[in-house]
Amino acid sequence: MNSPVWHPFTQHGLGEPIPLVERAEGASLYTADGQRIVDAISSWWVTTHGHNHPRIVQAIRDQAGKLDQLIFAGWTHQPAEDLAQGLVELTGLPYAFFSDSGSTCVEVALKMALGHWRNLGQGHRQRIIVMQHSYHGDTIGTMSVGERGIYNAAYDPLLFDVETVPFPHAGAEQATYDALDKACAAGNAAAFIVEPLVLGAGGMLFYPPAVLTEMARICSAHDILFIADEVMTGWGRTGTLLACEQAGVAPDILCLAKGMTGGSMPLAVTMASAAVYASHYAPDRAKTFYHSSSYTANPIACAAAVANLAIWREEPVRETIATLAARQAEGAAILAQVDGIENVRQCGTILALDYRVKAGGYLSALQPRLLAFFRERGLLIRPLGNTAYLLPPYSISAQDLTRCHQALADAALLAGEG
Ligand SMILES: *Cc1c(COP(=O)(O)O)cnc(C)c1O
Repeated sequence: MNSPVWHPFTQHGLGEPIPLVERAEGASLYTADGQRIVDAISSWWVTTHGHNHPRIVQAIRDQAGKLDQLIFAGWTHQPAEDLAQGLVELTGLPYAFFSDSGSTCVEVALKMALGHWRNLGQGHRQRIIVMQHSYHGDTIGTMSVGERGIYNAAYDPLLFDVETVPFPHAGAEQATYDALDKACAAGNAAAFIVEPLVLGAGGMLFYPPAVLTEMARICSAHDILFIADEVMTGWGRTGTLLACEQAGVAPDILCLAKGMTGGSMPLAVTMASAAVYASHYAPDRAKTFYHSSSYTANPIACAAAVANLAIWREEPVRETIATLAARQAEGAAILAQVDGIENVRQCGTILALDYRVKAGGYLSALQPRLLAFFRERGLLIRPLGNTAYLLPPYSISAQDLTRCHQALADAALLAGEG
């Protein structure tokens, strides 16, 4: 194919096929050549209820005919006001700063943290504490607070230094607490940023709510800002609307994006505590929060998100999620018995596992083979190295989910071949 499109995270030199998708519904994608593909990763973690939810589609149509875009510096519109109000009620945090992607809402969170301390006369507090294996986005700032590796080695000269605490592996949580305590105690710490319960791009690594609770307690004891990056875990993925709920944690700053519009439009928000807002509030322009992007709080995207909030309020979303989680648990129990599969784990609607790579096998060769194997079966499943996971829209049918579980089991043979 001779397309001028340069795709993200795609090595065009490998000549892998790039399917053309024409429409979608629920958990199904329909390609131009007439195939139905099961979208088992929610089109990269964004689609929540299912593709093209009728209420969200209608809200987008209605808003597009009324007000398409508006400068948001010093101006406002009803969809943003309604959305902010709804987000305050859902998250318990009193202020909403809009942006347009997961990366930008994390950048905003980091800027808020540094601005907060500077405005309070503690500008020496500039150091960000992060967790090993984290992923917070692909912009320079968010790469800086994420795991360093082959994905960002070329850009390393542009990245700023951070303090990293080890991932809290089961039985080794104390090492994480000790490192966090030490990093917080250093006089230059500004904030700790973490993905609650699930480290997504870092390999679908899970840790329990009690660990999140303890990490938040340590930050609070040192008066260090606790930033929860719920860009992936938010909107029901882990079984509750927010993963923080399971830990009883109230972050100072909360990042939401991906599923905020049900996965229909790009929109993100950084929710801030009263203290973080207050430190920027003054009759003094120097303390202004200087951040904006052209499409901040785009009215059509906000209308889609308002419709998503109504769906959460009025439709049995939590029941649908509980049903999916129960089916994933059944699948996990079966997959745990399969030879060549290890570390089968489940958190809410997410199921993940690792393929045991035969000694001498090439890990880097496995991922594209798995990808092709799933694609041949009409499934969109995109492994991370030798880790495969299902993170489907909540409305995926029992039959489609079973097909995914079966394919994950069958792929173990492929991995065994090394
Ligand atoms: C996907 C992701 C981001 C980045 O979101 P984009 O919308 O892709 O910029 C940030 N944090 C986490 C935890 C994510 O999973």
